[in-house]
Amino acid sequence: MRMFWDKKMETLNPADLHALQLKRLKKTLHSVESVEFYRKQFDNAGVAVSDVKTLDDLQKFPFTKKQDLRDGYPFGFFAVPMRKIVRIHTTSGTTGKPTVVGYTRKDLDTWANLIARNMTMIGIGQDDVFQNMVNYGMFTGGLGFHYGAEKIGMTVIPSATGNTRRQIEMIRDFGVTTIHCTPSYAMHLSEVAEEMGETLESLKTGIFGAEPWSDNMRHTLENRLGVTAYDSYGISELFGPGVAFECPERDGLHIWHDSYLVEIINPKTGERLSDGERGELVVTPLVKEAMPLIRYRTGDVTMLMEDGCLCGRGKKLTRISGRSDDMLIIRGINVFPSQIEHVLLRIPEVGNQFMVYIDKINHLDEMTVEVEINRSHFSGELADLARIQKKVVKELHDTLELRTTVKLVEPGSLPRFEGKAKRVIDRRGDI
Ligand code: ADP
Ligand code: ZN
Repeated sequence: MRMFWDKKMETLNPADLHALQLKRLKKTLHSVESVEFYRKQFDNAGVAVSDVKTLDDLQKFPFTKKQDLRDGYPFGFFAVPMRKIVRIHTTSGTTGKPTVVGYTRKDLDTWANLIARNMTMIGIGQDDVFQNMVNYGMFTGGLGFHYGAEKIGMTVIPSATGNTRRQIEMIRDFGVTTIHCTPSYAMHLSEVAEEMGETLESLKTGIFGAEPWSDNMRHTLENRLGVTAYDSYGISELFGPGVAFECPERDGLHIWHDSYLVEIINPKTGERLSDGERGELVVTPLVKEAMPLIRYRTGDVTMLMEDGCLCGRGKKLTRISGRSDDMLIIRGINVFPSQIEHVLLRIPEVGNQFMVYIDKINHLDEMTVEVEINRSHFSGELADLARIQKKVVKELHDTLELRTTVKLVEPGSLPRFEGKAKRVIDRRGDI
């Protein structure tokens, strides 16, 4: 089975990789000189492209933040004339106003090739049937995966989102082997398949991404859907999906170092961190034409892993635990929603769907977790309800070191999400 799409690039030795990165970095820095924002920023920082002699010199350049892209709305970051732009996407707008991304024809091809690398890496190809169950509109996940999958010759079903029963029928009727969707939607899909009595025999591979998800979620999805589940990380500003992806080791995500220059920084001080230290991912894409970015702060929390990988590719990132800005601070304690998910999924008495509400009551932060009861582990007695509730409170406390209020609700009563889930509602700012 073919396991490399572009073996040379995927397994470059460190010396060749650094030389290529430096060459591409200089080219990228030159290309952003046509963007007013960067001309000003470089001037203000007193840096010039000609100062760059080694990769470390990049540290002299200022960061680019999401707010900068918002200020440049819509096309302020395009480095090529509009007539060269053949496609526009926007971000999902999870944290505010969506920002715009543009692509040249070459960008679209580069992007599809990066996705082709990811998919080939996990052993899928021409013999696979691929159902792409994400939004095909402005969201980059739909068209991004579509063209990557076509490039490697898969049979692509552009089913997009919605109508879960129909999605399940198509998986069954078309012998789908590989699905792509958000982990939240995969969970919903598995519930509906169960209701319909469908076992989805043909499924082998699940590619899940666009939002954080825990290892417990992985086990649950693998058991329920009968797939091997892979984590896929993407961000629209860096093309979209395909930025980092798990290999068959499923122990960290490969990021394509020839295409993305990676730094991990302390989000408070901006100082660069070493391998093995967790911080904010900062990326300088090295192969983008329409919208190159310099030291883009993704806001996502991860670290570069010290050890190499058995598959022979470069350094990996650990799974993204969340955005530095979706980290909740409850009574001074840092909590990521993915930790809550991790705890709930290992308690058989509750279901997979939950919501988190945060309020300020008498000047104190209070976190309430609503979770669905799992009927097959619940006797129906009031005493049993109290037991389960106590258990959830205790397990959350053991992991988060935080007291929470837990409300058990009817199965099926909490919202289901087709795209990125919105499970946390922070009402502390509301009056
Ligand atoms: P928005 O930033 O508006 O959500 P995008 O659609 O570009 O727009 O989403 C990118 C973001 O989605 C990333 O910055 C990250 O926070 C999140 N994300 C994407 N893939 C993953 C993943 N596999 N694990 C965790 N978070 C992810
Ligand atoms: Zn690997």
